[in-house]
Parts: sequence; structure tokens; C-alpha cells
Amino acid sequence: MPYDLVVIGSGPGGYVCAIRAAQLGMRVLVVEKDKTLGGTCLNVGCIPSKALLHTSHLYEEVADRFAPMGIEVSKPKLDLARMMQFKQEGVDGNVKGVAFLFKKNKIEARQGTGRIAAPAKVEVSTADGKSETVEAEAIVIATGSDVARLAGIEIDERRVLSSTGALSLPQVPKRLLIVGAGVIGLELGSVWRRLGAQVQVVEFLDRILPGIDGEVARQAQRLLEHQGMSFKLSSKITAVETSTKSLRAQVEPSTGGRAETLEADVTLIAVGRVPYTEGLGLESVGVKKDNKNRIIVDAHYATNVAGIYAIGDVIAGPMLAHKAEEEGVAVAEILAGQAGHVNYDVIPNVVYTYPEIAVVGRSEEELKAAGIPYKIGKYPFSANPRARVNQETEGFVKILADAKNDRVLGVHIMCSDAGNMVAEAAMAMEFGAAAEDIARTCHAHPTLPEAVKEAALAVDKRAINM
Ligand SMILES: Cc1cc2nc3c(=O)[nH]c(=O)nc-3n(C[C@H](O)[C@H](O)[C@H](O)COP(=O)(O)OP(=O)(O)OC[C@H]3O[C@@H](n4cnc5c(N)ncnc54)[C@H](O)[C@@H]3O)c2cc1C
Repeated sequence: MPYDLVVIGSGPGGYVCAIRAAQLGMRVLVVEKDKTLGGTCLNVGCIPSKALLHTSHLYEEVADRFAPMGIEVSKPKLDLARMMQFKQEGVDGNVKGVAFLFKKNKIEARQGTGRIAAPAKVEVSTADGKSETVEAEAIVIATGSDVARLAGIEIDERRVLSSTGALSLPQVPKRLLIVGAGVIGLELGSVWRRLGAQVQVVEFLDRILPGIDGEVARQAQRLLEHQGMSFKLSSKITAVETSTKSLRAQVEPSTGGRAETLEADVTLIAVGRVPYTEGLGLESVGVKKDNKNRIIVDAHYATNVAGIYAIGDVIAGPMLAHKAEEEGVAVAEILAGQAGHVNYDVIPNVVYTYPEIAVVGRSEEELKAAGIPYKIGKYPFSANPRARVNQETEGFVKILADAKNDRVLGVHIMCSDAGNMVAEAAMAMEFGAAAEDIARTCHAHPTLPEAVKEAALAVDKRAINM
């Protein structure tokens, strides 16, 4: 009997889509080529990176911040193998959680590589060379993304790493050279710096964290430098010599010019991710892609071939797990005849450095480019009582509101708990809040979110505690 839906890929896009479709009464099969469910996010992305960010942060806290709080402990000793095991336990727990949810929702899962043999037909090939063709009313492609590579630089996952290798190093490198000052480079750079590596970051652009509000990125750079990370901006790596004991990377200005050599023990290539469509058979069925290899879909996630849909990292938009999840829910609802929809104006984005950086909505640069007049309300954590008592006063909240109607257009938070705090801002924006609405919402005292309320008050120059 044909399936109502076959989902190819079990990352946050695919597995969430499968669950929502099953809830809506569909008979669902998920095809996953890897041994474990959960995709990049659970296996080699969000989850393991956050485990290491958590443990390395605590390691640094114990060493530097406990004594001033009156907690005497002996100097912490790193057991990296145990730390990696802790990370793996977190990954395993989450992966098993997906298997449990599949069982609970009566979703079938098959391990194998899916190829679309024809509309409504998916061929599943297993590692032992066997293959089987399944039929489905609808196919959702959720095959995600892969690491972007630099021409001429081979990733061996030993000394020249992708993010995957950088999540499993067997020892702390003395000198770590990171190529790319985006989210992944800065998060993994933070992990290894906290554990003792000297970290240098080379970035093609003249700024770090492309896409993040410029003022926020500048302050983040200052704080990361203060922590010991160093940056070489407007520069590009053109080659990495690996035959020598130390790696020797050739670096030159982005615009060309005299090259210099940087030495390191390990280098992490973190220059972004690219959609993954290998082996899917898209060309033979005629599914169209854009010039960045992303599958082209319409507002209902439908490709140009009837019955074939796509979601997540493999289509346009921010490469984020929660964006993929929202699309998974939306496409399942659309297939069930409901009005699935994703509000792309309200997709939060978090950088889990210390302090964290969390953003929802637009940056100043984007508003200027769109010609939208805006007001700014800014509030520093140095004025927030809870941040002061915890002595974690770095960062600020910045709210950008429409100059004409006060509607919140962007919220930018930098502080120890920004990732959790941005949920309030996303909720407010989803409901079309004005800055005034946030300013009049009672916030518990003493908490870090009071800074969000104060920033909203500051939009009309009436912050209280400043
Ligand atoms: C180091 C790192 C840290 C990250 N941290 C965060 C974070 O903190 N927050 C966040 O929101 N995002 C984060 N991301 C991004 C996030 O992981 C992705 O946006 C998300 O996983 C995309 O989900 P997806 O379902 O589209 O694809 P994926 O999670 O990539 O899953 C795709 C799945 O499809 C499978 N597949 C591919 N082709 C086939 C085929 N032909 N047949 C069968 N199976 C196939 C793959 O094996 C994979 O399991 C991080 C990424 C990395 C690398």
C-alpha cells in the first residue's frame, strides 16, 4: 500500500514534518541515510556544540569566577575524554527521543539513501547494496546541508577540520586557526579557547558575524578579544600546507596583496554550509534548483514537480533548526489541506558565545537599506539589578521600533541568557506588538528580562533605571 508521505531526511525539518503529518492522520515513512535519526542538528550540530559550550563555560567559570564569589575549589582539571562522553550522552538521549516519538506516532523509519526514481516513487538503497522502491502520494525532501569547503584546502578531520571534526578533537590544540567569523566559528572557537587553545580567527569580511546588527557585532568582537580570541579581518586563506609539523596557512588581504604565513596546530574551516542534494536524482525528475544549489519551492513548499516538496536547509532562508521545524509543520498541514504558514519576519537567531547574542527581526542596517524610519531604545545590562548582582554586566538590549507606529521591528540582546530571553521578543513581534506594549508588560524583579522592558521604555526615552 502506498504511503501518504515519504520524508527524505530525519533532521529537525524531516522528523518534525513526519510527526505533524502522522498527527494529522497520514501514513508516513522517513528515509534516513545515517545510522541515527535527528540529522545535522542532533548529531553534529546544535546539540553537541551546545553540550561543549555548556561544559567549557562551566570549566572557565570554576577557574575564574568561583573564588571572587567566596567558593573555594581547587584548580579544575580537564578530562577531555569524559567531557566528550558527556556530550555524546546528550546526543544519544536526543536521538533516542526522536526514535521514541516515531514509535509513538506510528511513523516508519528506514535506514538507507533515498533517491526520487519518479514522481511518487522513492528508491531506498541500503549499505549492503539492496534497494527497494516505495510509493507515496507526496514526497518531502528534507536532506539539509553539508559543510562548505574552500577550493584547494582538503578537510582531513585530523588537523584541517570541519565543524564535525572540531566537535570531537581528542586533545586541546595549542594553536587553533579558524577560517570564518560566523556563528559556528565563534562558538567552536569559544569552546577550545576556554579549554586552553590560543584561537585566531581569519575573516574575509571587515566584520565578524555577518547578518547580525553591526553595533552588536562590534561589541561582540571587543568582548571576544578581551577573552583572548584574536581576529584578522578583511583577509582570506588561500592555502594550507599540511606536510610540515605545524600547519602553515597562507593569508592575504581579501582584495589581494602580500601574503603572510600563519602557523597553527589545527585549523577549522567554518565558512558556511551548502544545501545537500547529492544522489537525490533531482535532475532526472526535473526538480529545479537555484544558482546556490537550493531547491526552488513556492509559498507552499512545492517544487516545480507535482507531489514533490522541500523544506529546511535545502531550500532558501536561514539555515537554522527551528526554521526547518516550522517549515516541517507548515508543509504537513498544507498536505492535509490546512493553512500551514511560517512567519519569516520572526525567526530568532542565537549565537551561543559568552555573552550570548540573540536577535529577532531586522538590524539597523536592514532598516536603513529598506528606507524604514525607526526609533532606537537601548538599555545596558550594567544598569540591570540582576546582572549587577551576578556581576555579569556585559551587553545590552536594543529595540528598533517603527518611527511612525511604534511597532517592534527588531530586538537585539547580548547577555548571559540572551538565547532564552529572545523568546519574549519573538512572541511580542508575532502578535504585532508596539514597543509600548512591551514597556507596559509587568516583568518580574529582579530578572534579566527587565532589561527588555527598560529598552522598550527607552524607545520613548523614559527608561526608569538608567
Ligand atoms: C556545528 C553546528 C551548530 C549548529 N548550531 C545550531 C543552533 O544552535 N541552532 C540552530 O537553529 N541551528 C544550528 N545549526 C544548524 C542546524 O543544524 C540546521 O539548520 C538544521 O539541522 C537543518 O535541519 P534540516 O532538517 O533541514 O537538515 P539536517 O539536520 O541537515 O538533516 C538532513 C538529514 O537528511 C539526511 N539525508 C540527506 N540526504 C539523504 C538521502 N538522499 N537519503 C536519506 N537521507 C538523507 C542526512 O543524513 C541528515 O540526517 C548548527 C549547525 C552546525 C553544523
